[in-house]
Amino acid sequence: MSSRISIKSILSRMSEKEARQKKSVFIHYIKIYTSLVIAAECLNKAQHRRSISHLKMILNFIQTARISSEEAQLRRLDELISLALKDIRCPSCKSANCSSCEPRSRTRLLLAQNVCVLRMFGTV
Ligand SMILES: [Zn+2]
Repeated sequence: MSSRISIKSILSRMSEKEARQKKSVFIHYIKIYTSLVIAAECLNKAQHRRSISHLKMILNFIQTARISSEEAQLRRLDELISLALKDIRCPSCKSANCSSCEPRSRTRLLLAQNVCVLRMFGTV
């Protein structure tokens, strides 16, 4: 009888821990997603500095996140955001007619948003 109770309590503690972990993963992704949406809205030339600061903040957040279960997805986000940043900072965009950087960075930010949404659904 007592052994049954302890197994039950171990199981309930395990699921509690799992639920906490899922909640923490969800919160991480919703934070990243929110900043990605703001960064994408600020992609125009007038606001691109705000976009850059949001993306740098996300990269910093991702690098300190340390969620072992999400390592591959966080690496993918890091890659997409770093590439978007490179395009946003393109020096030719300011002078010459460099028209592909903004749409390309927008696409990358949308892909990154999709990764977040899919992971949020995966953790609900
Ligand atoms: Zn450019």
